[in-house]
Amino acid sequence: MKENPGTMEKLVSLCKRRGFIYQGSEIYGGLAGTWDYGPLGVALKKNIEQLWWKRFVLDREDMYGVDAAILMHPKVWEASGHVSGFSDPLVECQKCKKRFRADHLEDTTKCPECAGALGEPRQFNMMFKTHIGAMEDESSISYLRPETAGGMFVNFKNILDTFHPKLPFGMAQIGKAFRNEIAPRDFIFRVRELEQMEIEYFVRPENWKESFEYFLQEQMEFLKSDLGLSKDKIHTIDVPAEDRAHYSKHSVDTEFDFPFGQKELLGLAYRTDYDLSAHTQASKVDLSYFDEETKERFTPHVIEPTFGVGRLLLAVIADAYAEDEQNGETRVYLKFSPKVAPVKAAVFPLLKNKPELVAKARDVFTNLKKEIPQIMWDDNGNVGKRYRRQDEIGTPWCITVDFDTLGETPELKDTVTVRDRDTGEQKRIPVAELAAYLKKGIEVY
Ligand code: ATP
Repeated sequence: MKENPGTMEKLVSLCKRRGFIYQGSEIYGGLAGTWDYGPLGVALKKNIEQLWWKRFVLDREDMYGVDAAILMHPKVWEASGHVSGFSDPLVECQKCKKRFRADHLEDTTKCPECAGALGEPRQFNMMFKTHIGAMEDESSISYLRPETAGGMFVNFKNILDTFHPKLPFGMAQIGKAFRNEIAPRDFIFRVRELEQMEIEYFVRPENWKESFEYFLQEQMEFLKSDLGLSKDKIHTIDVPAEDRAHYSKHSVDTEFDFPFGQKELLGLAYRTDYDLSAHTQASKVDLSYFDEETKERFTPHVIEPTFGVGRLLLAVIADAYAEDEQNGETRVYLKFSPKVAPVKAAVFPLLKNKPELVAKARDVFTNLKKEIPQIMWDDNGNVGKRYRRQDEIGTPWCITVDFDTLGETPELKDTVTVRDRDTGEQKRIPVAELAAYLKKGIEVY
């Protein structure tokens, strides 16, 4: 079996053909750096988010979920250093006028497109500026958040006052962020409107290392056990001081072997007390913590595990892409782990023009869907075509209701054929045991 021969063109076309991801504003020629998720893309994205929320929030007692506003007071981004420091070096070709990120070029003097001379690099702030209300002057400027973190720091005191948590504890959020990337590219890898899953974990300053190591392990567990990514494609890299974000004292990036190379998938940063201290100073509201046991007052330090949903989704699809030969034809399939698969199983009647088969199959489908919602009905074309379609969207199991289910062979009455996506193996399973059989395979939580 050939695994992952998928070039990006194959993945992008499969994603469009099967309703995972479409180009943003496609009928108007597209809008660079934006993508729209179709029904299967949304389902996959929600599965990734739910697995994350379960591991990092629901299964723990020290994590507080929030969903803060995207628009925030402009002072938030001044205090956090984003207004002055959230920028990438931009260079422009003097001949073709195309713009590039200087730190992504091998030769910063020559245009990679037309070989014209490149101008001097200048800092380009990546925050999207907007105006709040009807006045369009300096006083009404605000920004679309470039990371979800800010919404957690400004709610730190609210969480202290309402829940009185003891250190260490964390805040977690899933939401949109916006970055006016100079050169969006590589499908959903580098976009201008993105979704992040972030944690701000507050610790005593002397304990930062312990929590940092712990979250590094947890990030790895999430990638391997929850998303089912191949271990050998995941790499952790210590980020050198000159490449770290302005707020970080220590960072480890986790990179993944995408079809276009080894690139950042997610990050882990030690933000020290940078943010809480900066917001205390700018807002004049005390964001320190009082330890009831030691009777000390101090500003907690922060460990920040940060994940990009789109990059995780792309890694999951790229890793799952596979081709093999079946009946002399090349078969394309996505070997998603059943936990992330957008459709867990599809139910078919063997023939769609036999009402008794259709009625029985509908019955099996309806009952199964009550227990496992991500079940699909499919009666288009013949069974071979349905298998191919389900393989391409990564459905782990296909269930066929046939004449034996109706009792043509008496000992097979009320059993169905369950076909495994990866091996093509078919098993006869009693209808009454189907849900338990699938749940065991999916490890439904
Ligand atoms: P890069 O170096 O690739 O620009 P970054 O180091 O600026 O990324 P962070 O600021 O650490 O990224 O953002 C946290 C996470 O958000 C990243 O690990 C990534 O998963 C995601 N992310 C950041 N920028 C983008 C983007 N433009 N498109 C898609 N995902 C992004």
